[in-house]
Amino acid sequence: MLPAARLNRIKELIFEKENMKISELSKELDVSEMTIHRDLKPLVEEGIIVKTFGGISLIHKKQEQPQTDTCILCNRANHIKMTYRLIFPGNKIEVACCAHCGLLRHRQFREEPIQAICLDFIRQTTINASMAWFVTDNSIDIGCCQPQVLTFEWEQHARKFVKGFGGNVYSFHEAMDVVFNKMNDHCCPRKQKG
Ligand SMILES: [Zn+2]
Ligand SMILES: [Zn+2]
Repeated sequence: MLPAARLNRIKELIFEKENMKISELSKELDVSEMTIHRDLKPLVEEGIIVKTFGGISLIHKKQEQPQTDTCILCNRANHIKMTYRLIFPGNKIEVACCAHCGLLRHRQFREEPIQAICLDFIRQTTINASMAWFVTDNSIDIGCCQPQVLTFEWEQHARKFVKGFGGNVYSFHEAMDVVFNKMNDHCCPRKQKG
């Protein structure tokens, strides 16, 4: 087994078992313990594992757990297929229930270097929100915030969708203002339908 392949195998094993003895690895990979020690060096340097007495342990990176199960803005439960994620400098993440809340939240920081990702409504691919196309006022109800905003990766898909289901297509910056203005026009969205 080549050193690179061995390294991958070691990674697999340690991610699976979390703690292993050098002697186990040596047996498993059929190389000397000296070789195993040499193989482990890059993993130690990368901070993936730590050497323990006679063995190694996987380091569990303490991840800053973002509040991801409810919307940062409206507290609604987030639905994985519609979420809009804001990524702040330093990798702090906020999750909004849908593009409606995502855009409103994003607008509050529009002068700041914030990235956002959302999902293509049809293909469920991840897209950079600033490049996405936003559809409002169409006849399909996704059951989240009103006025509803759907996101598309390609303008032509958004336009096709609007042909079938009605609505308007906006670019990122337009959409931000459209949602904001609509919210200010109808300060009580619940009263919308009679
Ligand atoms: Zn929300
Ligand atoms: Zn929502």
